[in-house]
Amino acid sequence: MTTPATADLVALGQHHYLPIYRPREVILDRGQGSRLWDLDGKEYIDLAAGIAVCGLGHNDPDLVAALTAQAGKLWHTSNVFYSEPPLRLAEELVDASRFATRVFLCNSGAEANEAAIKLVRRWATAQGRAPERRVIVTFRGSFHGRTLAAVTATAQPKYQEGYEPLPGGFRHVDFNDITQLETAMAPGDVAAILIEPVQGEGGVMPVAAGFLQAVRALCDRHDALLVLDEIQCGMGRTGTLFAHWQDGVVPDIVTLAKALGGGFPIGALLAGPKVAETMQFGAHGTTFGGNPLAAAVARVALRKLSSSQIAANVERQSAVIRTRLATLGNELGLFSEVRGRGLMLGAALADAYRGRAGEILDLAARHGVLLLQAGPDVLRFVPALNIGDEEVVEGLQRLETALHEFRG
Ligand SMILES: *Cc1c(COP(=O)(O)O)cnc(C)c1O
Repeated sequence: MTTPATADLVALGQHHYLPIYRPREVILDRGQGSRLWDLDGKEYIDLAAGIAVCGLGHNDPDLVAALTAQAGKLWHTSNVFYSEPPLRLAEELVDASRFATRVFLCNSGAEANEAAIKLVRRWATAQGRAPERRVIVTFRGSFHGRTLAAVTATAQPKYQEGYEPLPGGFRHVDFNDITQLETAMAPGDVAAILIEPVQGEGGVMPVAAGFLQAVRALCDRHDALLVLDEIQCGMGRTGTLFAHWQDGVVPDIVTLAKALGGGFPIGALLAGPKVAETMQFGAHGTTFGGNPLAAAVARVALRKLSSSQIAANVERQSAVIRTRLATLGNELGLFSEVRGRGLMLGAALADAYRGRAGEILDLAARHGVLLLQAGPDVLRFVPALNIGDEEVVEGLQRLETALHEFRG
């Protein structure tokens, strides 16, 4: 039951935040691994991980140690001065990426994508292309963030409506549709294709087998850049450190954020040799990006999320969750499909239950398991990549109870 303390705090949010969010009416208070407790002492199994951010769960001792050690040393320098953690992180990201030669550190996913969009435009400019020949193609159902340029790249009307005039130079095509993409490239005015290897917010939708290779081939034919938004699907979530490793392509630009900081805000743009020298002194910048605190934490997150133990756990828990969801879906007739890669899984609601993902999330939370939706029709599972067997079993058990109640 909601206590007065919780009710008071919820009321603060309802009165003082811009009313752009509608969080569940609980106050999360502390976490350990893949378990969370609210202010009233209720325990939750966390299959949401702060929207695929807490890749190592909550209160990871190595992340805490990195943060507290750096907190006692140096918090911020700005980019007018060097400090060691972001320098080391940049080197480690370049090494881990297998393609990038340079890195731009920033604070969020949208900021990383904004930098990618600006880098594409500068690259096209340096090639002597007129402004109308610097088009960026993106895909319906995508999500690239909330800045004006990033919502314009995001090919979903619900994120754009009412914010016009939007910046120009974007063209949208259907996801996984190579024929439409060929048509969109035909005018010869495309400077880049921006794509999520697994769409997150748009419904947990992976690229079809061979699709990214076809996209890469089209980019090469039309002298366009391949930009991969791995903000949600990167950092080990799909079973490899970068999702696109499974598709056998080499990108020109990759953006990261979410799990990169394990819960501490940070974003990054990784630039391959074709574009790494394009932006020179003064071309772009950010005050907080590459903050020593964020970088110190991200170095540890990167090291731990790159490990073979994490990859093995992602594979194992993915199979368990996928199988159980498929079984549950069959028993209850709830799901039309269970899809995704690694620990980025979606259960699409059958036609009879479309639009009701939010209701299921409420029930699940009431039964002590936190999950997400990806649009109104898809349940999304993005737990910590080190989630234990016990938490998976218990979380799915609680979900089953909630789903039975939902079916009535
Ligand atoms: C979350 C997300 C973003 C935006 O990241 P913010 O940190 O919220 O700005 C961009 N792209 C993808 C694929 C995302 O999942």
